[in-house]
Amino acid sequence: MEYETVIGLEVHVQLQTQSKMFCSCRADYQSAPVNSRVCPVCLGLPGALPVINRRAVEYTIMTGLALNCCIPQLTKFDRKNYPYPDLMKGYQISQYDLPIAVDGHLDIECDGGPKSVGVRRVHLEEDVAKMQHFPADGGGYSLVDVNRSGVPLMEVVSEPDMRSAEEARAYLMNLHSMLQYLGVTTGNMQDGSFRCDANISIRPKGSDEFGTRTEIKNMNSLRSVFQALNFEAERQRRVVEAGDRVVQETRGWVEERAVTVSQRSKEEAHDYRYFPEPDLPPLDIAPDWVEEIRTLLPELAPQRCARYREDYGLSEYDARLLTSTKAMADYFERAVALRPASEAFAKQASNWMLGDLSGLLNQENRDIADSPVSPEHLVELIGLVDNGAISTTMAKTVLEEAYASGDSPSRIVEQRGYTQISDTSSVEPSVIEALDANPRAVADYLSGKESAAKFLVGQVMKLTRGQAKPELANQLVTDALERRRDEAP
Ligand code: ADP
Ligand code: MG
Ligand code: ZN
Repeated sequence: MEYETVIGLEVHVQLQTQSKMFCSCRADYQSAPVNSRVCPVCLGLPGALPVINRRAVEYTIMTGLALNCCIPQLTKFDRKNYPYPDLMKGYQISQYDLPIAVDGHLDIECDGGPKSVGVRRVHLEEDVAKMQHFPADGGGYSLVDVNRSGVPLMEVVSEPDMRSAEEARAYLMNLHSMLQYLGVTTGNMQDGSFRCDANISIRPKGSDEFGTRTEIKNMNSLRSVFQALNFEAERQRRVVEAGDRVVQETRGWVEERAVTVSQRSKEEAHDYRYFPEPDLPPLDIAPDWVEEIRTLLPELAPQRCARYREDYGLSEYDARLLTSTKAMADYFERAVALRPASEAFAKQASNWMLGDLSGLLNQENRDIADSPVSPEHLVELIGLVDNGAISTTMAKTVLEEAYASGDSPSRIVEQRGYTQISDTSSVEPSVIEALDANPRAVADYLSGKESAAKFLVGQVMKLTRGQAKPELANQLVTDALERRRDEAP
């Protein structure tokens, strides 16, 4: 039997607002000393009243619009009740039946081609406190840091439209990138600013009914989500093939062992005893406000991609890669702004960024936003090649050194004496040396094997530490070989 995987994702996004969701404590809790960003409201003290953060609502509307959602005029907050010590009030203020945004979609591109993934809703809630557990024999204890309590949290819930871990990854990457273009979150997955719970079920291929799903939590990287989904699809397949039923439950991803384990049976909505939050008024979202926010939407990846193709003549493939993250696109923009607009220059900047620079960054898993080679330095490097000071081969070495040291390319070239040798008399001795050291290659050439000349040019480049101007080395090697042909008996 062939099975199809069905995936729906719930993504929680911390919003980058100045203050928390319902109080005036600062929201940048990460850098603050433990339990210092607190007040009666986010500590849940009796009698303290919440006030809605307007900017958080605006960011959620903005996200909803970018995800092609409708923004209903009426929205309200609800209490979600559950007992856990990370909840100061014993309930979380969230949204239940009237979320801020509904019925959108996000387009993704995967092996199977383009696809539209439905977005069921985008709603707003508050984050909870952070617990740290210290287990010990005979008890142990837990500590609570309330700084995170009340930080604005936006939840984006997809339809169960994804059919593979690859599609889920593409969806998350697109959503993550979009949120950064919108500027509503830092999007850092390690520190929990962007976290994903994944719902997954399987069904016989061709069936149009959904199977029983499990919900996976505790994944703190894109890679973990991908691995967890593949693991869980396989686990469910084994359960079904053994004649058992998949149990609806919440499972936790255990990074070290690369498995999911049962945490608890899935709670139902009625377990939470949702009811309208009596301390907050329902919100009447004026259509004019929504339209105003729509006009404020920044340029997103698809538009930037189109602009790069139009303005710089870049290929669709390159333009897409350059706009895949905002940090990458911003780097490119800064680089091209440093020179008079020209397609040739933009193409070079793009090639360096997508090629050698990305290679260096990927090795260290480093984001281009923290690249040790600034756009200014990259442009300088391109200039050195353009004016003939160094060859392209040498430029690669200079880039590596600039990456390692943070020094400017022209400084590196100057200090290391990396200049291109373009006068014959300096290169000629290396040509003679290369020919003398490789009589075999010379003989090959003379017997008609022209590719032997290429090898000899390579030797000359080596002998000159890459400094000979390649065209010159080529010319001199050919001349020398032809002279030997004439001299041959
Ligand atoms: P809850 O609020 O209990 O988490 P929802 O019905 O709101 O449940 O769905 C939560 C997420 O689960 C959504 O992203 C949805 O797409 C996904 N989902 C629902 N049913 C399935 C299923 N059978 N298989 C996979 N995902 C599902
Ligand atoms: Mg859920
Ligand atoms: Zn507070």
